[in-house]
Amino acid sequence: MTNPVKQWIRPEIQALSAYHVAPSAGMVKLDAMENPYHWPKAMVEEWLGILRDIHVNRYPDPVSAELKEDLKLLMDVDPKYQVILGNGSDELIQIVAMALAMPGRVVMAPEPSFVMYKMIATFCGMDYVGVPLGEDFVLDLDAMLAAIEEHQPALVFLAQPNNPTGNLFELEPVRSVCQQAPGLVVIDEAYLAFSDRHHLALMDEFDNVVIMRTLSKMGLAGLRLGMLFGSKAWVEQFEKVRLPYNINVLTEASAKFALMHFDVMKAQTQEIKENRTQLVKALHQLPFEKIWPSQANFILARTPPGKARFIADQLRDAGVLIKCADGAHPQLKDCLRFTVGTADENRLMLQALHAAMSE
Ligand code: PMP
Repeated sequence: MTNPVKQWIRPEIQALSAYHVAPSAGMVKLDAMENPYHWPKAMVEEWLGILRDIHVNRYPDPVSAELKEDLKLLMDVDPKYQVILGNGSDELIQIVAMALAMPGRVVMAPEPSFVMYKMIATFCGMDYVGVPLGEDFVLDLDAMLAAIEEHQPALVFLAQPNNPTGNLFELEPVRSVCQQAPGLVVIDEAYLAFSDRHHLALMDEFDNVVIMRTLSKMGLAGLRLGMLFGSKAWVEQFEKVRLPYNINVLTEASAKFALMHFDVMKAQTQEIKENRTQLVKALHQLPFEKIWPSQANFILARTPPGKARFIADQLRDAGVLIKCADGAHPQLKDCLRFTVGTADENRLMLQALHAAMSE
């Protein structure tokens, strides 16, 4: 008898593994680039007061107009641009890909980069082309331009700063990619809060560029709110693909509330940047082969050969979750990725790391 799952689920979906999230109850969680700080107690109380008045029996505001205006204002986006909201920026990657997808069309991104670009290309039946980054994960412009010429991608993703490498690509090669790409270029600024440069001006310069951001790394990962800024022409097309009510009432109200306290979110990101400086210093005291500079809230480091998995496992056994990137991509051989936590979390992690690396 034929197995209907094997027969009907597309082979490329059968070949995938679902996005894996390690169990984390009771662990020091430094594997997912979250902000480790919750809000001050008084702010939590005020928030709970707002939630009390929410009517969950009603559908959410279908357009979230006020929230969009707040976001544009706080993020210094020219009012002439429009914004579409997603259930995390993950959903926006999917919305954009769905709007552009056709069999044979290509999604392109440098590699290693955020895995969902490739996953979502596959979900949408598109071809994916990854272009290897150069030494120290710089954008290899010659390789990118050659790949663009050869594959004529409908969609290019550039994560600025990049995940999992933590670096920001130089502006000039990014501009060249925008200029040469025949289709849409999405600049994914998920880690903007920890970096030195934004790319809003690229939208003024190139009509094939949009900017994607998220509140996840600024302390609202649990709310799931991503945003994409672009010209009316692009955004109105993406709006057709967005499912109705994708931003739920709790997210909408909580995000609006959080943005009234944007100073708290900013102070937290500043603290994370300071913790990052301390953590980099401390990691340099340990026998890593290489520690890459970071403009994000995580740090990528290369262990001595063959040690990454062992160290990650030792840390897990000591109650600390980090990300073992070894095996995810050839250029990430022996690599670990550490999310920057609170000073206390970082101390606990370093203790466990010290023990694991002296074995
Ligand atoms: N872009 C990049 C580069 C990321 O690393 C992530 C999450 N790790 C996302 C987008 C998705 O973030 P979210 O869906 O939480 O907004």
